[in-house]
Amino acid sequence: MPESLARRVARCKRACQFAALPPHARPMPHLPFDATPRPNVYAAGPLDRADRLRRDADWLAMALSAPDSRFAPVWRGRHLFEERPEGGAAAVFLPADRAGALRAEGAEVCFLGLDGSAAVFGLDLSHLETTDHVPALAGLGDFADLRQIGPLLPAGEGAVLAQARAMAHWHGRHRFCGLCGAATAPGEGGYLRRCTDAGCGAAHFPRTDPAVIMLVHDGGERCVLGRNHRFPPGMHSTLAGFVEPGESLEDAVAREVLEEVGLRVRDVTYNSSQPWPFPSSLMLGFFARADFGDLTIDPDELEGARWYSRAELRASPEDERFKLPRADSIARRLIGDWLTAGP
Ligand SMILES: [Zn+2]
Repeated sequence: MPESLARRVARCKRACQFAALPPHARPMPHLPFDATPRPNVYAAGPLDRADRLRRDADWLAMALSAPDSRFAPVWRGRHLFEERPEGGAAAVFLPADRAGALRAEGAEVCFLGLDGSAAVFGLDLSHLETTDHVPALAGLGDFADLRQIGPLLPAGEGAVLAQARAMAHWHGRHRFCGLCGAATAPGEGGYLRRCTDAGCGAAHFPRTDPAVIMLVHDGGERCVLGRNHRFPPGMHSTLAGFVEPGESLEDAVAREVLEEVGLRVRDVTYNSSQPWPFPSSLMLGFFARADFGDLTIDPDELEGARWYSRAELRASPEDERFKLPRADSIARRLIGDWLTAGP
């Protein structure tokens, strides 16, 4: 990433971190959480996924070379971005001729949907060792992680890139049949991989991994936040974990909370969900109630956890001593919704 784009990312991060402001300018004591009903970041994408067209080989062939088609490059989980003169950044979509040159050298496409009448594809370049000195990408921008650039993007663009990233990840991990071990080949616009062994022919469809994420509260002024070993310095968040086969979402919430902090929950209620293609999750957000009491922390899961009051969270310094989850996360949404629901 060139220095200038990196600088913009840093500026965006600072805008989200109150610690960057001088103390007198911080909008304390209330963090500006928004209680308006709204989709989470990376959700509610603008495309018509048009699944009917995935099986229309003639239409797909036409769309791959149509002048108004656009292709979102994905290279090893990263997307192509450009700076905007007015500030911020925007995703770079390639036209069909540049995408065609890359496809001829091994890039794979996945039909993401329609923007009006124009087709939008993901273009997986992960087979390339580097994106430097690739003629079809020359002068177009730089590759960066969506989580770094997301807050700078126009509304809806993040959702399209999240879809492209998730699909590229799925294709990259399903190149061989799980039944017989033969190679698979993409079909139906990229929403299927079929085993190439004539005797098997199994169809494999894209998957997403459900994960529950829950804010545990005591029905009053306190909630539980914890830190796991992988969090950035100072960050505290809600508890979370993957749903296991044979569990309901409510079962998974109860099990994860008991495993991680030793609390038994009740009144599990759904809040919202968020695609989280880092690499392949669907986050399902809940509130759950538990009696206030001592926590028994699983040290394999958490570095620490405790009860926090609303007042403590509203006064978060948002620095490396203590900060809440990133602004694009459903964890932040859950905490914000709980704070705004209180006195
Ligand atoms: Zn097979």
